[in-house]
Amino acid sequence: MAGLLEVKQLCVSYGAIRALDRVSLSIPAGEIVSVIGANGAGKSTLMSAVMGQVSYQSGEIEFEGKPLPRRSFQVVKSGISLSPEGRRIFAPLTVLENLQIGAFPRSGDSEKAVKEDMDWVFSLFPRLEERIGQYAGTLSGGEQQMLAVARALMSRPKLLLLDEPSLGLAPVIIKDIFRELRRINEKGLTILLVEQNAKQALLLSQHAFVLQTGRIVKQGVSRELLSDPEIAAAYLGGK
Ligand code: ATP
Repeated sequence: MAGLLEVKQLCVSYGAIRALDRVSLSIPAGEIVSVIGANGAGKSTLMSAVMGQVSYQSGEIEFEGKPLPRRSFQVVKSGISLSPEGRRIFAPLTVLENLQIGAFPRSGDSEKAVKEDMDWVFSLFPRLEERIGQYAGTLSGGEQQMLAVARALMSRPKLLLLDEPSLGLAPVIIKDIFRELRRINEKGLTILLVEQNAKQALLLSQHAFVLQTGRIVKQGVSRELLSDPEIAAAYLGGK
């Protein structure tokens, strides 16, 4: 059966640099799928291409069996949202304002529906509710990451893309965030997670793809990749 998201033979170049070379992957509905890879492997480029933020030279991206629009706003309207690397929350705005902006693409929805989702994200990340009036730029790194995920959820996506949610965070915070990601998935949301932290990503996801200098070099059941000696040597640091 075709996945919720199907990426087929995707090629992206920045001038002479080929960042993605015939990348194909399938994200089944209801799953958490991870893409692991080192610095510069092309992980962020993959996310940006799906979100319509960089253009691709060839290949296809389908969502729910139809070609995905190439313009960012329409991608979000189709039901995909991104929690970007480096968090990129709106620092001079409050927690509440950041969440309201996240809900903006659902302009047709009632205030009540938006409020329900806000209550839901506060139940996932109670710390955000405690800091509702605080400027986002003054939140801790972990809180900013929570806000980035919460903001992405406010567009009520069917597919959530997460670009390195563990970057720069202490292990205990990573554990908290990944636990909430699992809860979010259990509510039925499909997740594509891109991570340098291969161990955490493989523990959380059901299937995984290994991206190396723009190419998928391995894919399979995450649990099996965790015990693959090549993966262990290259990405798990013997951990
Ligand atoms: P990291 O984990 O370090 O963020 P990544 O796997 O997300 O890496 P990308 O950011 O997608 O990798 O970059 C893939 C390649 O494309 C790299 O060689 C990078 O230098 C190059 N690249 C990315 N963005 C641009 C750009 N706007 N212009 C030129 N080259 C770029």
